[in-house]
Amino acid sequence: MPLSWVEIDLAALRHNLLQVRKRMSARTQIIGVVKSDAYGHGMLPIARELVSGGVHFLAVSKFWEAQELLVAGIRHPILVLSGIEPCDMEEAIRQQVRPALFRLDHAELMSRTACRLDTEAKIHLKVDTGMGRLGVPYERAPAFLDKLLALPGIKLEGILSHFAAADESDKSYSELQLSRFREVLGELAGRGHAVQFIHIANSAGLLDLPHAHFQLIRPGIMLYGSPPSQELHFPARLKPVMSLKAKILQLKDVPAGQPIGYGRTFLPEKPSRIATIPVGYDDGYPRLLSNQGQVLVCGQRAAVVGRVSMNLITIDVTHVRQAKEDDEVVLLGEQMDDRISAEEIAQTCATISYEIYCSIGRHRFKYFLNGAADL
Ligand SMILES: *Cc1c(COP(=O)(O)O)cnc(C)c1O
Repeated sequence: MPLSWVEIDLAALRHNLLQVRKRMSARTQIIGVVKSDAYGHGMLPIARELVSGGVHFLAVSKFWEAQELLVAGIRHPILVLSGIEPCDMEEAIRQQVRPALFRLDHAELMSRTACRLDTEAKIHLKVDTGMGRLGVPYERAPAFLDKLLALPGIKLEGILSHFAAADESDKSYSELQLSRFREVLGELAGRGHAVQFIHIANSAGLLDLPHAHFQLIRPGIMLYGSPPSQELHFPARLKPVMSLKAKILQLKDVPAGQPIGYGRTFLPEKPSRIATIPVGYDDGYPRLLSNQGQVLVCGQRAAVVGRVSMNLITIDVTHVRQAKEDDEVVLLGEQMDDRISAEEIAQTCATISYEIYCSIGRHRFKYFLNGAADL
């Protein structure tokens, strides 16, 4: 056992998938979003669990992530959200990996390559309905469609867009995006074209915009057990999947005034007991938690004192009389009746749970609980 580690609770993932299913209609299917190493949770075990839980598609950001899934033997439809570059086009077509498509030159290359391979390339057209990021701008979608539908060798399997603010309590911008999306769908229908998969909803859309579910929904954060934002009315009982734990490496009694850590930013006012924990910013524990964070020891909260360094932090356990060396410390997750959530850490660091998961997820040691083999 290493001195610090990440635990991934696959039973919690299954529970969250069930919560997703409870909120969608019978005609809707799920795209499990496993980009960025499944938000740091470990793409392969998460993808396997989602596939066995019956998700219809998997979504990644980059083609190399899709290749990792394929090499691992996961033969499930894969959508690449950031599209596929020309150098990967032939391989992607051979493997039937679907790009989110937003550029005509990519579509043309795809068409030529598919014709040369004597096959059909499936794509999902990405429309920008107001996110202002990836996608064909919705007002240019009709002209784009005319050109796209004329290309041989391409099958428009799906059409998608992405909400910019579905996690806000005010849904007016999401409704505007939805009406623009419906306009584009109308243009498509007007050309006598039926696509199999229409999708726009992320976790927030799934929860708060049931009329935006269409044939597919694309939950990410909800699967990992966090609400998309604090603003969202959130009835679902989700279970966080990731924990970060470590053992007390050293325990020492220090006199009042003994500086703790780099920069001497913490000086105890009274004699104190300080525990050193082998976790630092290299493990994705944010340096912004210096003199701000809290952890759980023996079921009690203890404050991070002094700066977070690369591989170590120091916590004040003066009040936790029973704490001893090698005791387990929870930096993210549950211990006895208390929990340090990714939302709590994110709030202290002025960021979002997504970023906390991604950075802690780069930890070298991960243990997959409840079934899957350790990787
Ligand atoms: C990441 C992502 C999602 C998932 O979003 P969550 O807020 O995690 O549910 C859905 N769609 C697209 C296009 C994404 O990039």
